[in-house]
Amino acid sequence: MSLSRRNFLVATTGAAMAPASSLLGFETTKQARDTEKDASIVSGSRIVDIHVHFDDKKANYIDEFLKVSDRLNLTALMLTPFANRKVVAEAARRNPKQIIPFGFVDLDASDVVQQVEELHNLGYRGLGELEFVKKPYNDPSYLPVYELADRYGWIVLFHTGIVLRQKFDEPEDVASGRMRPIHLEEIARRFPRITVLGAHCGNPEYEWAAEIARWNSNVFFDLSGSTLTKMHGRLSDFKRIFWWSGQPQDSKTPGNDTSAFVKIVFGSDTDLAGIEGVMGQYHAMFEACDVPERTRKMIMGGTLSKLLGLPD
Ligand SMILES: [Zn+2]
Repeated sequence: MSLSRRNFLVATTGAAMAPASSLLGFETTKQARDTEKDASIVSGSRIVDIHVHFDDKKANYIDEFLKVSDRLNLTALMLTPFANRKVVAEAARRNPKQIIPFGFVDLDASDVVQQVEELHNLGYRGLGELEFVKKPYNDPSYLPVYELADRYGWIVLFHTGIVLRQKFDEPEDVASGRMRPIHLEEIARRFPRITVLGAHCGNPEYEWAAEIARWNSNVFFDLSGSTLTKMHGRLSDFKRIFWWSGQPQDSKTPGNDTSAFVKIVFGSDTDLAGIEGVMGQYHAMFEACDVPERTRKMIMGGTLSKLLGLPD
């Protein structure tokens, strides 16, 4: 429902600027870097994009996605409206390395628990993007959904921070304050088997998002949305937000990585044509913040590959 707005943002802010050849970040030597510079595809490890919205308005969406997936060696957490659950479950069965089905449910629906059980039976691996909630994420009425997700050991992607306005001339029961990153802390602590992913790093509450990720091994954030565009000229600010690199760690990290940036994961939240542009934005942030190669690899797919048990 919000795709057109997302696309608008990406299309009008120059996000699609870097070619794939400049996005690598997976090389270990300078020589490798030079060799790869002209490659037309991203080589090396699999990229996992945690934020790909299934678009039910495009009849060929799955085929189009698979082409992008082949070209970029990219696996998607495909965020799927409940109504489209069967199409995407079937596509995931046929393409298990490329499509990981995630169910987008309305936490306020009276039958949400049954919906989640059905998604589990269909082979879904998690939920998301949860958003547009009527109450804060930690409201007790939502706990039965989290209890189920915890039992399944699922990954759950939550929208965090500022949210678009869909209607300008009618009342709308939508408020960003219900989706603040601080609410994810309680969910992560009460349900330690859930991996909590926060979209948009709490925009603009980046510090809260980062600190919650620092103290909770099961919390990660993506930098999709307008953040990397807004911060374009000051990307090194992220070093002050993710400040604890090399410090004694307050929680376990994937691969015991000591870079604070390992709490970030790659998510594009754009249409298929825009994914490479967002990869370019991540790459620019990596360069501005001197993110180590090893950590870049974790961000771009290593962390999720391990969580999902994907092949390289
Ligand atoms: Zn979102």
